[in-house]
Amino acid sequence: MVDDTLSGMKMMLVICDGMGDRPVAELDDKTPLQYANCPNFDWFAKTGICGIMDTIAPGIPPGSDTAHLALLGNDPFEVYSGRGPFEAFGIGMDVRPGDVILRGNFANVDENRKIVDRRAGRIKEGTSKIAESLNGMEIEGVQILFQEGTEHRAALLLRGEGLSSEIGDTDPHRTGCCPEKAEPRSPSAKKTADVVEEFSKRAQDILKEHPVNKERESQGLLPANYILLRGSGTAPKLISLKEKYGLKSAAVVGVMLVKGVCKALGMETIKVEGATGGVDTDMMAKARTAISALGDHDFVLLHVKACDVYGHDADARKKVETIERLDEMLGYVKDNISNTCVAVTADHSTPVSVRNHSGDPVPLAIVGPGVRVDDVTSYDEISMAKGDLGRIRGKDLLPILLDIVNKSEMYGA
Ligand code: ZN
Ligand code: ZN
Repeated sequence: MVDDTLSGMKMMLVICDGMGDRPVAELDDKTPLQYANCPNFDWFAKTGICGIMDTIAPGIPPGSDTAHLALLGNDPFEVYSGRGPFEAFGIGMDVRPGDVILRGNFANVDENRKIVDRRAGRIKEGTSKIAESLNGMEIEGVQILFQEGTEHRAALLLRGEGLSSEIGDTDPHRTGCCPEKAEPRSPSAKKTADVVEEFSKRAQDILKEHPVNKERESQGLLPANYILLRGSGTAPKLISLKEKYGLKSAAVVGVMLVKGVCKALGMETIKVEGATGGVDTDMMAKARTAISALGDHDFVLLHVKACDVYGHDADARKKVETIERLDEMLGYVKDNISNTCVAVTADHSTPVSVRNHSGDPVPLAIVGPGVRVDDVTSYDEISMAKGDLGRIRGKDLLPILLDIVNKSEMYGA
């Protein structure tokens, strides 16, 4: 065991989703981080050890789920098996290793089973009642759990013997056609495909008569009379941060998928009033919550989504503005930490010129007692590459933080 007398130090990881970028013509060929006025980001660069990071591997555009798995100490190539399981964790389902999970949409089909709306008129209300009516079936000895997510989203969980996630989507991702049949992609997946088909049929019968749908029809709204399924995945066996590193950990995160990754790793997720997981989120409230969570946790993750959204929207100005808001949040973090090692980074780049995630490495600064401060003074993608951390992979970050706070274990004798 590690000698605890060496360290009562805490760890905090601030993740600005999608913050990394490329030079943008509209910003005088600077990246949004270079262009933004961000004295607090720069303080972290000046006061810390800096570098750049390939969250997955060089040249691989990370998803937010795989990126967070890596940043929390896992090799995503070993543990990732699709987004579904993490969405299900995120909405609070009891997910166990081996469960097969599909993401679902409450959708609307017409009398010929042609899809009218993949989101059932962007249904928001009554989905928990609908989900309840589909939860708890048993088909061919397979236990079926079904739960609503936010708005039109839901998750279907299959638990039982002989299941496989090698099945195709029933969601054709377009309207005007019929839902697809769940196709097995390997012979061993036939049973799972049959179960999903049977679930879809039974669900359609139940939803046709469901009081929430009758009520919607009477109001002239589209009834949620079909469940479209996609993204089948098997729940991985993950080792919690407590088991692996002995850490009592918490996450302040709004986005369901990232929240799911945190929960899957046994982190406590803390709800914040005013935090939306969107661009209008109350960043300061999130920072206050994260700082106070350090009181009774060894490790706190603070995740803010907004930058990623403006990367996808190709809105460079808004991305700069968001970085400046994040800067204010970091000012609060800076002024309120003590005896804590803080890493400030992103889960991936979402360049406005790409409108999607790219494989460009992200900047990383680590501040804390005893870190070897380098010469970098500006927090941006280009300056940070000259820092002493060099270029690391995401899965190396947590071990590095643990070592800084003297909580790592010696390898060898
Ligand atoms: Zn992300
Ligand atoms: Zn994104």
